[in-house]
Order: sequence, then structure tokens, then C-alpha cells
Amino acid sequence: MVKLLGIPYDEHSSYLRGSAGAPPLIREALFCPSGNLWTELGVDLGAVGALEDGGDIVIEDGPRAFEQIEEAMFALVQHGSAVIALGGDHAITYPLVKAVARCQPQLSILHFDSHPDLYDAFEGDHWSHACPFARIMEAGLGQRLVQVGIHTMNAHCREQASRFGVEVVEMKDFLDDWLPVFNTPVYLSFDIDGLDPAFAPGVSHREPGGLSMRQALRIIHGIKAPLVGADIVEFNPLRDVDGLTAMAAAKLVKEIAGKMIAQL
Ligand code: MN
Ligand code: MN
Repeated sequence: MVKLLGIPYDEHSSYLRGSAGAPPLIREALFCPSGNLWTELGVDLGAVGALEDGGDIVIEDGPRAFEQIEEAMFALVQHGSAVIALGGDHAITYPLVKAVARCQPQLSILHFDSHPDLYDAFEGDHWSHACPFARIMEAGLGQRLVQVGIHTMNAHCREQASRFGVEVVEMKDFLDDWLPVFNTPVYLSFDIDGLDPAFAPGVSHREPGGLSMRQALRIIHGIKAPLVGADIVEFNPLRDVDGLTAMAAAKLVKEIAGKMIAQL
């Protein structure tokens, strides 16, 4: 059983707000009768007991927000459910991974993004959506962090990546047959701006030169270790073009959920 959990939270976005509005639109695209619920790996998400929607959590403003996100995630993963969180901006990944790491101390993290999100602080915000992977690595929540799709690296983030031992596959070096190999359970964090804006224009930070949907799917389908949790973040409906990004996010939910079920 895979559970969906909506996290309508974008308080730590640096440039534009709007991703808090994403979860209902991703669900709408996922269940849109324009397509069926079979995944490419042959799993029927419409079958009884395959996919359950945990709804959106109600988040208070202020410092309690991360605790609420962590507890909502923990409540689901502690009973062995594989959870896909629908963001929200990338700041939510820190409390989400914190929750999963309480159950999985040997966690590998696979992170798709244009950006490394490794800033120590961004515009004075330690909890910015540009910082979650610095917080995750400082807290020792990930045994390994593998980043793919990166094409906005700067000197500070490069230094942070080497300080934390992050394995970064930059877009300029990416080869079509690249596949990561993991020996421990995997958490997948998918910032949809890691896809090229041609495939996902509805993001706050459009960075041309990203992955195609097919390149991303090939990597997801190729994961050989148990996939225990995931998030899809940074879809900003205010920037979308004719629902394209909602459908791209829904496609990722579908294939990630199918991968989770296929391995159960
Ligand atoms: Mn990004
Ligand atoms: Mn990000």
C-alpha cells in the first residue's frame, strides 16, 4: 500500500510563493479520466489496497510547522507504509526525511533537482528551500546523498557538497545510461525543476538544460533497493502552462508508486 500525503506549505520559498497550492492539482491530474491508473511497470494503482490518499495536512504558521510535517509523515511510515509526499517547496524534505530516518537509520537519498539545495543559509534563512540537504547531512539523516540533474552549482554549494561527501551527478556530465546503485533503503526527493522547463514549466525557478521526463523515469524504474519514501516538490501552479506540470508531477507519482508496489 502506498500512501499520498499533501503538504501545502511554501513558507520557505525564496523567490516566488505558490507551491503550497500544488497537492490538489497533482491529485486531480493523477485521477483525470484522460488516462488510466496502470503504471509502466505493470502495477494497477486503481486496484483495491494499492493507493490510499491521506489528504493534506493542516499546517500552522511559525516554528511548529516542521514538527507537524515530521509527525504526519512519521505516523504513516512507522507502520511500514511507503509514502509519497506532495509538496510544497523543498524545505519540507528536511522534516520528511527526519521522519523516515527514525524508522530507517541506514537511509540512502536520491535527489533530483536543478539545484543542489546545500546552502548553509539562503538570504538569512537557515530553513530555506535552498538549504534542506545541508540540514539533512548535518543531522546525519542520510548515509548517502546522490544528486542528479544539477546544473546551477556555485562555489559555496560545491564546497558544501565536498564537506558532506555528496555524490553529485551534474547535468553537464550526465550520461543516458547512468543508474545509481544503492545497498540500503532509498528515499527519493524529486524537485520538479530538475526536469527541463520544456517538460515542467510550472516551477518558480526555471533552469533550461535539465532532464527529460524519460531520463528521469528510466532512473526511477532502475532503482534496485527498497524505495521507502518520496516527495515531489516545487510544482508551482501559478507558473504552469495548460496543466502540463500538474500532469508531469502526477506521472512521477504514478511511476514512483508503481515502483514502490512492484518491490513490496
Ligand atoms: Mn530546484
Ligand atoms: Mn530543490
